[in-house]
Amino acid sequence: MDVEAVLDDVFEKYREYVNPGLANVMRFAGFGNIEERAQGTRIYDLAGNEYIDCLGGYGVFSLGHCHPKVVEAVRAQVGKLPLSTKIFFNKPLADLCAKLASVTPGPLQYSFVCNSGTEAVEGAIKVARMYTGRRNFVATVGGFHGKSMGSLSASGRELFKTPFTPLVPGFSHVPFGDIQALESASDGETAAVIVEPVQGEGGIRIPPAGYLKAVRQLCDERGILMIADEVQTGFGRTGRMFGVDHEGISPDIMTMAKALGGGVMPIGAFSATPAVWEASFGQNPLIHTTTFGGNPLACVAALAAIEVFEEENLPARAADTGAYFLEKLRGAHARYPQAISEVRGIGLMIGTEFEVEDIGELVIGGMARRGVVAAYTLNNPRVIRFEPPLIITREEIDVVVQAFDEAVAEALEMLEGLV
Ligand code: PLP
Repeated sequence: MDVEAVLDDVFEKYREYVNPGLANVMRFAGFGNIEERAQGTRIYDLAGNEYIDCLGGYGVFSLGHCHPKVVEAVRAQVGKLPLSTKIFFNKPLADLCAKLASVTPGPLQYSFVCNSGTEAVEGAIKVARMYTGRRNFVATVGGFHGKSMGSLSASGRELFKTPFTPLVPGFSHVPFGDIQALESASDGETAAVIVEPVQGEGGIRIPPAGYLKAVRQLCDERGILMIADEVQTGFGRTGRMFGVDHEGISPDIMTMAKALGGGVMPIGAFSATPAVWEASFGQNPLIHTTTFGGNPLACVAALAAIEVFEEENLPARAADTGAYFLEKLRGAHARYPQAISEVRGIGLMIGTEFEVEDIGELVIGGMARRGVVAAYTLNNPRVIRFEPPLIITREEIDVVVQAFDEAVAEALEMLEGLV
């Protein structure tokens, strides 16, 4: 096969039929190759190059790529009943919702299964309005909840919102981690507070200790629901099964997606308490529906995935390797204080913030040339995020940090050359 010819063909099709701007950015950023297959922590391109995946599909590939147990579950289901008829009972859906009730914290019991993170957030917003009869929401600056109209209204970066106004009314935003601001912004008209336990796209931002607990308490005092958006933090990413577990609290509604599909199937879900369910689906079982959501194929993948998270003890593993990774990156920070302003993280959700955006972009490209995939965060382009599969080894982390170190040195040289 003439790899160069295939590459040119795909690039041209991207430019003609997919997204010309994105095609150019991808090529410039060092991702101008074609992904061909992936296994475990590794991605292989068409030319046969191997990369350590340190982005993990923005939190999707927590089990690594093509985990055999998840692949096998999907294989066994695909030729039998991949999509639901929606007429009869769907066993994989029932099994998954029961499993979610057992792994999610506190009284979260019922789940609605959809196809993505943004859909999970849309559903959460709707049931929160139904339960409380109130219309308003408080979200956080820099927060990211998706790009459909409701979840976009909750998201906290104007760049993605302004072209689409008017958005869903009733959303206000307060600084993340600031409980006083949340107190001032919420009142008797507030249906829910929506918050990520750790802001992902906002730049891997960890709130001060006690913040989530204080949010929970404030919500309880004012009859406000707490929605924890665990789409990115869920299923071991932060070193606990869920981000809220770090503070031992339980939200009224939790949204999930990304890693839930085991890196094999797209799936999202939101879980809530019996009281929330009673006030929404209890009033009308068809008040919120989806054609593809809860399909057997995605449900068997998610069930197998949750079993793997438990069997392989992946949350604890993420805590352990995450601490090692963080320490190594802090070493790099000490070597390049002029370029890196901060390294922060929890579990295997780690961000390095650069003094200027340009360095981050060059470093991502430099790492890609050295066989390591990373990316910046959507709402904060100065931050490179590391969210590898939770199965990554210390030896692989050593390779990643070496590539990072060299890429930073190279980026600084390039920028000096421009001055
Ligand atoms: N919520 C959070 C916290 C996310 O990080 C994301 C995606 O990055 C979403 C929601 C939206 O998920 P999706 O892209 O599957 O719609």
